[in-house]
Amino acid sequence: MQTRQSDEVETTCPYCGVGCGVLAKVAADGAICVRGDPEHPANFGKLCSKGLALSETMARDGRVLHPEIAGERVEWNTALDLVARNFADTIAQHGPDAVAFYISGQLLTEDYYVANKLMKGFIGSGNIDTNSRLCMASSVAGHRRAFGEDIVPGLYDDFDEADLIVLTGSNAAWCHPILYQRMLTARRVRGTKIIVIDPRRTATADESDLHLPLDPGTDVLLFNGLLAHLARVGAMNESYVAKHTSGFEAAISLALADAPSSEAVALGCGLPVADVRLFYDLFAATERAVTVYSQGVNQSAHGTDKVNAIINCHLATGSIGKPGAGPFSVTGQPNAMGGREVGGLANQLAAHMGFENGEDVDRVARFWRARNMARTSGLKAVDMFRAVGDGRVRAIWIMGTNPAVSMPDSSRVRAALKRCDFVVVSDVVRTDTTRFADVLLPAAAWGEKDGTVTNSERRLSRQRPFVPTPAEVRADWRIICDVASRMGFADAFEYADPAAIFREHASLSAFENNGARLFNLGALAAISNGDYETFGPRHWPQPNERPDDARLLAGGRFQTPDGRARFIPVRQEGVAQPANSAFPLALNTGRLRDQWHTMTRTGLVPRLMANAPSPVVELHSRDAAENEMDEGDLAYLATPYGFARAKVRINDGQKPGQVFLPIHWSGQYAVNAGTGPLASPVTDPFSGQPELKHVPLRLRREVKA
Ligand code: SF4
Repeated sequence: MQTRQSDEVETTCPYCGVGCGVLAKVAADGAICVRGDPEHPANFGKLCSKGLALSETMARDGRVLHPEIAGERVEWNTALDLVARNFADTIAQHGPDAVAFYISGQLLTEDYYVANKLMKGFIGSGNIDTNSRLCMASSVAGHRRAFGEDIVPGLYDDFDEADLIVLTGSNAAWCHPILYQRMLTARRVRGTKIIVIDPRRTATADESDLHLPLDPGTDVLLFNGLLAHLARVGAMNESYVAKHTSGFEAAISLALADAPSSEAVALGCGLPVADVRLFYDLFAATERAVTVYSQGVNQSAHGTDKVNAIINCHLATGSIGKPGAGPFSVTGQPNAMGGREVGGLANQLAAHMGFENGEDVDRVARFWRARNMARTSGLKAVDMFRAVGDGRVRAIWIMGTNPAVSMPDSSRVRAALKRCDFVVVSDVVRTDTTRFADVLLPAAAWGEKDGTVTNSERRLSRQRPFVPTPAEVRADWRIICDVASRMGFADAFEYADPAAIFREHASLSAFENNGARLFNLGALAAISNGDYETFGPRHWPQPNERPDDARLLAGGRFQTPDGRARFIPVRQEGVAQPANSAFPLALNTGRLRDQWHTMTRTGLVPRLMANAPSPVVELHSRDAAENEMDEGDLAYLATPYGFARAKVRINDGQKPGQVFLPIHWSGQYAVNAGTGPLASPVTDPFSGQPELKHVPLRLRREVKA
């Protein structure tokens, strides 16, 4: 593969959490050329269909190119003055919790940092949350419960070194394709076995050695059964459990009560008992086993319990921070992990700290010289839009995301935005959400942005500009700082460039706490502008004890009061809203191979649209027959929250009683075609993540093919 050329810019793909390195340049004829970076350790030169089409998504069609107030073009100063004045007035009249920011895993770490600082340190509210809440919040909560902080112990190298990879709630073949290719290579080279746990027979399941199509909501039962099995057959690492963990007795007694035998698990999960035994025996016999989990686990009313059920099994075998082994949560968005590092969730502070510890809050307040430090968590995504709807939040700023489509119960979200006193949207292109903007601000796009992102294995990479930014477009961090200055906080938001923000972020991570922490979070606090400019992909944070080793938690010490990881006793609870006589089916949702989120970029590329030009609902032939439907019919779908329409595809990879609809379509492409209007706003009590994988549904044929 051709090595990097001097005219190519090293940057990072803006789509998924794999974080593939991209080489980009503008050719002499003006054409944009993009290829995989052969030296980037996330992808070694490969790109998936979405990454390969990046150059075709950079057209100016639909681009927001200048600020607007009520749809009319205005000067930047006019728009910024209005935003700052309305936010300040709302805070003065109704308090800081009457305003909110809803941000995005698309933002760079530097953007995230200043948005978080403005809301939590200067406005004085925790009301900043992100669309990553819909993606990985249950993993964050599960890590915090088990490890005492939000640390992902795994590395991509583990996929090369594992003898067993268990993918649960992850259609990696479509959603994280480059990582999935790496797993298939391990199978070819090393003989790694792949087990897929998913109610649907996905493209990932098609390639697996064993597919376990469990019933929705039974993941805790399956992993409780595994924990009980490990204990029964003597496959636990007793010395690790004794030295490095707490709470085993409570967890195993609940697991044994929940899942007394493989037969009971098979019955409860709707699986053949022989397949359950095969999974359990293989896991028990394999020292190097990685469990990869994603949205199918996280997007659940019991997502945090599911995460902890998985982690419990790896604590039992002592496989945390070991090569080729461990639990591995894969993030959906390009900078979901960077957002976690800066604390860009309503219930987090920076550097893995949280609101529950008053000393942490004071530490951050001192570092920021905060004028008005938030003391408590703010509203999580679903609750935030409820508060917009009932008037508790009167001014909201939405950055780089499209909640009018992507939030569950999106009809209610649109109604809330319509009635909200003041809506600011900063984005690259016009979306369903920009229609609600009182003030619309033009933000820099991929190829113009300059900063850092962090991928699923905590590897920092740079996004670098390689095309000029349009004259009236600004970087997100710059827009946020411009507003902060006008609100009277200029001294705290005077940054010359993204490198200055990054240094402050890294310094905060080290501030006052380095000695007491397991990880050297502040290693990059003094990075020069030159080094920031040239730095290549690197892991962060690093362990204090072994600074050259990227692997975390290998030493068996955890950021808990007693230094031990915690087993969390969890019980099988099922789905929040079972199917019923009015809504006899269950809707599952997910991504397609060639599309990204609400298609604001990938929808621009004809060859990405070719495989699925319109929304398709997939259902089992039995359900099609019972509902008198044929392939290609137009179906009307209804849940307790709303309705949508999609073409029927008959697919016996669906379990009877369950239908699948992709998340991508929005009002831009087809009215009521995506999952937003249908999806449930029921959330996990610990993470606030909505249950997007299961909602009761009915359907009928509307138009015959
Ligand atoms: Fe981009 Fe993800 Fe595809 Fe890599 S796998 S090219 S990061 S979309």
